[in-house]
Amino acid sequence: MKWIWGQGIDDFELMTNVSKKLRVKLKQDFQIIHPVVKHRKTSKDGTIKFLLSLADEMVIESVLIPSDNHYTQCISTQVGCSMGCRFCSTGIMGLERNLTSGEIAGQILAARSFLKQNNHPLPVNNLVLMGMGEPLANWTQVKKGLEVIRNPDALCFSRRKVTLSTVGVRGKLDDLGRSRLVLTALSLHAPHQELRKQLMPAAAKYNLGELIACLERYILAPRERITVEYVMLKGVNDSLSHAADLVRLLSRVKCKINLINFNPGQVTGFKPSEHEVIEAFQGYLRSRGFTVMLRKSMGSDIFAACGQLKTKIQDRQ
Ligand code: SF4
Repeated sequence: MKWIWGQGIDDFELMTNVSKKLRVKLKQDFQIIHPVVKHRKTSKDGTIKFLLSLADEMVIESVLIPSDNHYTQCISTQVGCSMGCRFCSTGIMGLERNLTSGEIAGQILAARSFLKQNNHPLPVNNLVLMGMGEPLANWTQVKKGLEVIRNPDALCFSRRKVTLSTVGVRGKLDDLGRSRLVLTALSLHAPHQELRKQLMPAAAKYNLGELIACLERYILAPRERITVEYVMLKGVNDSLSHAADLVRLLSRVKCKINLINFNPGQVTGFKPSEHEVIEAFQGYLRSRGFTVMLRKSMGSDIFAACGQLKTKIQDRQ
């Protein structure tokens, strides 16, 4: 745990506090393989998108988002995604396979080693599981990966520095809350079941009332909040009547709301809401006592922003 994950050593020979005999045995029987940076693009705002190749040549994407003194890394949990959200580029590609816990945590080592080799001064301090895939659809491996991410001998991230974003998967959402491993963000995007089902077909499997009841049961630290994510789609979910329904829906959930500018990417059929419409929506929610943030869109010029992580066939080749 300390050598591989804490220090990023990938040669058993260098693990000098392990007996010589065991090192030989380990070398015979195992290989240490992390995701490898195959390609990268840097946005004019400093966002860096990596195309990472895995041991079986499949590829995933991971993104580093800069702020004043650190990077936030967005990591993937699946190759593709089966949830099919209509506004998301990854949703269009479908699911190819789940990532292993090593591939999930290994994205952090790949980014750290890239930053070190290129003398980037900022550390990766925050993580969001918001890349390709639905983390709770691969919960067994994600949970194992998070244990490595959190372990003080390994990647050593504190709970409040890691956020898992989910559409909500029945049974698993409760597990996530009980695990207390990370903070939770819910991709809500609609204040009622019918509209949510239209935007996110996977929502059909989990009634919105039950999902919200699950969040109401979450045991949170005194100042901790669940993040509710809401992408603003012009003429679809952005009216004041939607805002009023959202207020009613979330009245008993300890949460803050993140409004997200829609980035079209390769998705057709939706447009971003007008600036004034977003402001009015935000103002309404704030007037009802909610903390509301407007998430700045980063990296959209390199298709690294939310919903744009679609791996193209030519990238794979
Ligand atoms: S928004 Fe998330 S859950 Fe939905 S299709 Fe995209 S990657 Fe999957």
